[in-house]
Amino acid sequence: MLNNLKFKFIDLYTKTNVVNIYKKCLEEEWYPPEKLKLFQFLKLKELLKQAYQNTSYYKKLFDEIGFNPSKMQDFKDISIIPIQTKQEIKKHFDELKSNDFKNYKPRKNRTSGSTGEPFEIFQSSLSHSYLRALNYAAWHQSGYNLGDQYAAFSGGSLLPGSIGFMHYVYSYLQNCTTLPSYHVNKEYFLKYLKLLQTKRIKYVYGYASALYDFAKTIKEQKLEFNFVKGLFSSSDMLYPAQRKLIEEVIGTYIIDIYGNPESGLISYECSERNGYHYGMLNSYVEITDEFGNNLNDNVQGKVIVTSLNSNCFPIIRYDNGDIAATSFYQCKCGRGLQKLTNLGGRSRDFIILKNGRHIHGAFFNHLNSIYKANWLFRYHVIQKNYDELIFQCMVNRMPTSKEIDQIKNEIVMGTDNLIKINTQIVDDIPMTDMGKYKLISREFENNLEYNS
Ligand SMILES: [Zn+2]
Repeated sequence: MLNNLKFKFIDLYTKTNVVNIYKKCLEEEWYPPEKLKLFQFLKLKELLKQAYQNTSYYKKLFDEIGFNPSKMQDFKDISIIPIQTKQEIKKHFDELKSNDFKNYKPRKNRTSGSTGEPFEIFQSSLSHSYLRALNYAAWHQSGYNLGDQYAAFSGGSLLPGSIGFMHYVYSYLQNCTTLPSYHVNKEYFLKYLKLLQTKRIKYVYGYASALYDFAKTIKEQKLEFNFVKGLFSSSDMLYPAQRKLIEEVIGTYIIDIYGNPESGLISYECSERNGYHYGMLNSYVEITDEFGNNLNDNVQGKVIVTSLNSNCFPIIRYDNGDIAATSFYQCKCGRGLQKLTNLGGRSRDFIILKNGRHIHGAFFNHLNSIYKANWLFRYHVIQKNYDELIFQCMVNRMPTSKEIDQIKNEIVMGTDNLIKINTQIVDDIPMTDMGKYKLISREFENNLEYNS
């Protein structure tokens, strides 16, 4: 009861409605697929109508292509709308804001996503509430309820708020024990283990790479660990062998969560563990080929997302840089939410240090020197070998040597001083065969343990 109150307090402070949307999510996920499809369609149509009426960008665009949202009869009708990229959003930032912008209690979000290209968007309070609520709905499968104690292996992006005092307050109100995982070694993991044991924390959340390093430490030390009821991973690729080891050591199944917050997309595994149910009332997902043509179910292609509740800053048909397929099969678990399968393009990989640590791509996105670099257009991290890392950047203007040094210093600090950093300013960063930008490329053999 008290814990629920704490969540209500967060809602009040952040002008969100997570407590109520969470309850809604727990009901909506069980609606029959047809009902969800209908509600999703109505939301989509309303969003497009409002985008046309209230933003100069879509008014001009829809007139140009002859699209009338009021006449929309089927999902397919929107395939005429050009796909939006980060560049387009950056270019038309002001025109994307709606006339009634303030009514949606918008908040600005800055993200690099998985492609190493920083950009900003606005999110409505409702969209933001859904993103968080869907995450908790995923956790609920293991018995978690809002306010239950949990621990987060995280460096920043998995938690609301960012750093310092406010982060501490948020964590307290959410009953969250934060276990920072960017700058840790074995001793830290052992300390975290003790903390989890003493507090008997039943729910644990973190990047797959951090959970893996943690599980490996427990295994090496032959320690007992058997009180965790729910284990949730997010934000990077969960390789089968990683998953197997984590589940064996910690003694419970992982529920993996895949999301792309800037487009309103959050999806999660269920007990069937063969895909990710996505929150259909906060986003609409299409799968297309490289030319923007819709693909059939079960065919892998680009993930194109429309954020359904961000009327203040509509993002329609946004290429989020990932690859997946959709599946209309009624899931055996009984949820009506459509599933994403064959998730292939989660391009945030990790680098590996000599001491065995895995450093997740989000580490770079959250370095202050990168986060605040207005001169940086896009970057790409190449790990040549255990000793050398190249930070490639495309720039809006030439950075000063101080700006470059700040980035280098922060990376060196965060990687235990184990790796030499070279920076390169380049005219272009090549895409992968699938037409995606990669944040991290590792040029030497992947650890065998990840390949099984
Ligand atoms: Zn299911």
